[in-house]
Amino acid sequence: MANEHVDVLIVGAGLSGIGAAYHLQQKCPGKTYAILEGRDAIGGTWDLFRYPGIRSDSDMFTLGYSFKPWTEEKAIAAGPTILNYIRQTASDNNIEPHIRFNHRVKRASWSSKDARWTVEAERGEGREVVTFTCGFLFQCSGYYDYEQGYTPDFAGVDSFRGQIVHPQKWTSDIDYKDKRVVVIGSGATAVTLVPEMAKGAKHVTMLQRSPTYVVARPGSDELAIKLRRRFGPRVAYQLIRWRNVLFGMYFFQLCRRKPERAKQLLLGGVRLALGKDFDVAKHFTPTYNPWQQRLCLVPDGDLFKTIREGRASVVTNHIDRFTENGIRLKDGSELEADMIVTATGLNLKVMGGVALTVDGKAIEPSQLMSYKGMMYSDVPNLATATGYTNASWTLKCDLTCEYVCRLLNYMDRHGYRTSVPRQNDPSVMEAPWLDFTSGYVQRSVAKFPKQGSKRPWKLYQNYALDIVTLRFGKVDDGVMQYS
Ligand SMILES: Cc1cc2nc3c(=O)[nH]c(=O)nc-3n(C[C@H](O)[C@H](O)[C@H](O)COP(=O)(O)OP(=O)(O)OC[C@H]3O[C@@H](n4cnc5c(N)ncnc54)[C@H](O)[C@@H]3O)c2cc1C
Repeated sequence: MANEHVDVLIVGAGLSGIGAAYHLQQKCPGKTYAILEGRDAIGGTWDLFRYPGIRSDSDMFTLGYSFKPWTEEKAIAAGPTILNYIRQTASDNNIEPHIRFNHRVKRASWSSKDARWTVEAERGEGREVVTFTCGFLFQCSGYYDYEQGYTPDFAGVDSFRGQIVHPQKWTSDIDYKDKRVVVIGSGATAVTLVPEMAKGAKHVTMLQRSPTYVVARPGSDELAIKLRRRFGPRVAYQLIRWRNVLFGMYFFQLCRRKPERAKQLLLGGVRLALGKDFDVAKHFTPTYNPWQQRLCLVPDGDLFKTIREGRASVVTNHIDRFTENGIRLKDGSELEADMIVTATGLNLKVMGGVALTVDGKAIEPSQLMSYKGMMYSDVPNLATATGYTNASWTLKCDLTCEYVCRLLNYMDRHGYRTSVPRQNDPSVMEAPWLDFTSGYVQRSVAKFPKQGSKRPWKLYQNYALDIVTLRFGKVDDGVMQYS
């Protein structure tokens, strides 16, 4: 069978893959493209995760696309509403016919002679290998392993007589009604699960090894609702989006420059929500400074309310082992449980697990340096859509898509077929891709490409700066080589 050839091949039909298709259609209307999606559905994260209460942990005015106003009432939105938004974007723009579902990309090989990628995917259950070729490969494959979430090796797991579930594997038949539930973890998933499960469970205990910064924000944005009525959805969306972007940038800078002040602000909020008798120092005061790890956002303080009402509690302690009836802690006490939910995180995955070669040479992602946080030293015609750690994912993905479209149009105008960033500056030092201290980052960061110590190799995690660089900056900057 002849290979299918397209100008641009997108890997992944999640939030960023559908966004990438939209940008391509709008800004490079002459380009042919296809999306290879490993699963049988659109939506990625927002289709995969089905645990109770699944929702965004940043506001939808910044997690939404720049081109499609978020018009739902909730700013911190439920997973199914986000999935609907992505599906709607795909159907409104006739993107679905371009998606090849059940195509898991395994390998991509670049040939300089032909100026194209040959991409191998496994199709369907039978894993039949199908081959595509493309001029430009756009990885929109997210950042974690879809097969398995992360679970530490807990001693005695087999002895536990109740049910153990990882949130990534949640199915609709899981019943927790009137059960004693222990949720292990203190990240975004745990703080989502606890108040939601507490509505039906007998009691929910959030068991954490160490606390996380948790901040309450309104679930709905009253100003947005008023502005929408007055100016219509498009204007309101842009206004609220910018307000949220600027506030997020201000708060991040405050955390970096005056961490003690930021810490007191955050802890003050928790004390107010939980009352003076609650041990905030023990359960909600991390040992690190704010934004050295992601902040956890709880809409309308739902977690705090559930704790106050006694339907949930927090235990900060180390696990010794699982027992028949629950979990024994290092201090010898035991938490009894009928169900244990291991909200212990994700396994990060580089470039959707695709093995890359350039002119027959295997590429080791950890040896690469990222260019503008989206392309890589010595890897031609390939970009990845990844988001910010300190702001909503889509803010950066939208800019990356705009940049890729500008690059493709620039190449067409000048008759170039290849673009490759080259790092020839000996004064550029290597640094890890992410400077977060979180366990899930530290476990995997060595496998990820590096960033450099200065432009255009440094990741600033700053939307305003990226607008300047990616939307307006020169595509021919002396570092990107064309041929
Ligand atoms: C529970 C949860 C909540 C989150 N909440 C927020 C939030 O509130 N704000 C925020 O900014 N970020 C959040 N994130 C991060 C979130 O993943 C991003 O916001 C966003 O959804 C990522 O979109 P994506 O399309 O880039 O990746 P994904 O949603 O991961 O989609 C990637 C797609 O690529 C496909 N794929 C991967 N590898 C291959 C391959 N080799 N071949 C073919 N297909 C492949 C996958 O099947 C998937 O469909 C959250 C993440 C999780 C897990």
